[in-house]
Amino acid sequence: MEKLVIASDNAGKIKEISKILSGKYEVISMSQAGFKGEIEETGETFYENALIKAKTVSDALGMAALADDSGLCVEALGGAPSIYSARYSGVHGNDAANRELLLKNLQGKTNRKAEFRCAVVLYRPDGSVVSGVGTTKGCITEKECGLNGFGYDCLFFSYDLNKPFGEATEDEKNSVSHRYRALCNLLEKL
Ligand code: IMP
Repeated sequence: MEKLVIASDNAGKIKEISKILSGKYEVISMSQAGFKGEIEETGETFYENALIKAKTVSDALGMAALADDSGLCVEALGGAPSIYSARYSGVHGNDAANRELLLKNLQGKTNRKAEFRCAVVLYRPDGSVVSGVGTTKGCITEKECGLNGFGYDCLFFSYDLNKPFGEATEDEKNSVSHRYRALCNLLEKL
């Protein structure tokens, strides 16, 4: 089985990707593989950021690396926070502050349609690149619902599941998520 390093420190993402790829790839996180550096996400799209992360980790470790770049796009906010989802409130990875700001910016708005988008990139040491994209649609709830998942999950009511991701089991979310769909799209190309 091919060994893949996941170019992420986000425990929620690593858990989901490992589960989706189990039986197909042996997956380890970049810190388990010994990668310690910070990766600056200077791209302007999910794809560009995923490529930067996968290439940086693959070049450093000499192993195949898989990166995901993903985020939430809200219609009434002109598609924001998009590639800035992890640092929407200004502090990278402060999920609670990001959710609070999202609810504040949507106060009084009737259009709460949103979608999660994901790009995944597999970068191998020979320089080859395979990618996939996926989306999942829903709307932003008025308040936090459920404790499952990570990031914006407890504010995202999934149209596919007819419930918030925050109340979905791992398997339910993994059957319809942007990340699952992006990984399926990538796997089809291998
Ligand atoms: P990235 O690490 O730059 O790709 O940031 C992704 C950010 O988007 C995360 O920190 C979350 O805030 C948000 N996000 C991406 N995917 C999900 C998801 O599946 N559930 C909830 N939030 C997500």
